[in-house]
Amino acid sequence: MDTASLLRKNLESVQEKIRTAAERAGRSPDEIRLIAVTKYVDVPLVRQLVELGQRSLGESRPQQLWQRHALLADLPVQWHLVGPLQRNKVRKTLPCAEWIHSVDSLPLLADINRIAGELGLRPKLLLEVNISRHPSKHGFPPEMMEEVVSQLENFPNVAICGLMAMAGVEGDLEGARRDFRALRQLRDELAPLAPPQVSLRELSMGMSGDFEIAIEEGATMVRIGSALFQGILEEES
Ligand SMILES: *Cc1c(COP(=O)(O)O)cnc(C)c1O
Repeated sequence: MDTASLLRKNLESVQEKIRTAAERAGRSPDEIRLIAVTKYVDVPLVRQLVELGQRSLGESRPQQLWQRHALLADLPVQWHLVGPLQRNKVRKTLPCAEWIHSVDSLPLLADINRIAGELGLRPKLLLEVNISRHPSKHGFPPEMMEEVVSQLENFPNVAICGLMAMAGVEGDLEGARRDFRALRQLRDELAPLAPPQVSLRELSMGMSGDFEIAIEEGATMVRIGSALFQGILEEES
């Protein structure tokens, strides 16, 4: 099969799995946004993905996001930064990323808020929580979140939309379900404490190996890379 056909088949298969997972959970598939994480593939392939109708794209490294945002500026896409953001990269990232999933400290949030004000932007942010407490994972410790949410009115130039997390151990699906459920429960506890203008509606959780579980547990955004490029990546390497 050629690359374009493989890509179409993979995208349709992921979309179908999103639909059936949503239906299993009694949810509407429209509540779930697929973010195609394109870090593994080159720009022409990203372009093909957009031609197939995919509009939400994610990158985990800020520099790569800047470059691709520029190279694909002619396309109607929306970029999501899903990986760590260093404070000295905020100014270059804000004009490129409509969404930042990886806000993991108050100093970073303060910088984003200040620079967004200077640039006249209002980025959409998710607060990343280290829900599994795994040392290799980023994010606020869960027990700090109440304090963080109580301070959110100090950041008027950003739209804080929800929480993001990764499962603690790749391949441990029961553990992933526990982590995703814990993130949703944490969100449900925090939502009433948030200032009136802040809705913690979004839950960004689930990747290629565990997105169906994440949807069953309430994900509104799934960040999927390798499942979209199956068969294509292996051919290239
Ligand atoms: C790479 C990456 C993904 C996508 O991972 P896959 O397992 O390839 O689907 C999702 N989220 C983050 C933060 C990533 O870095």
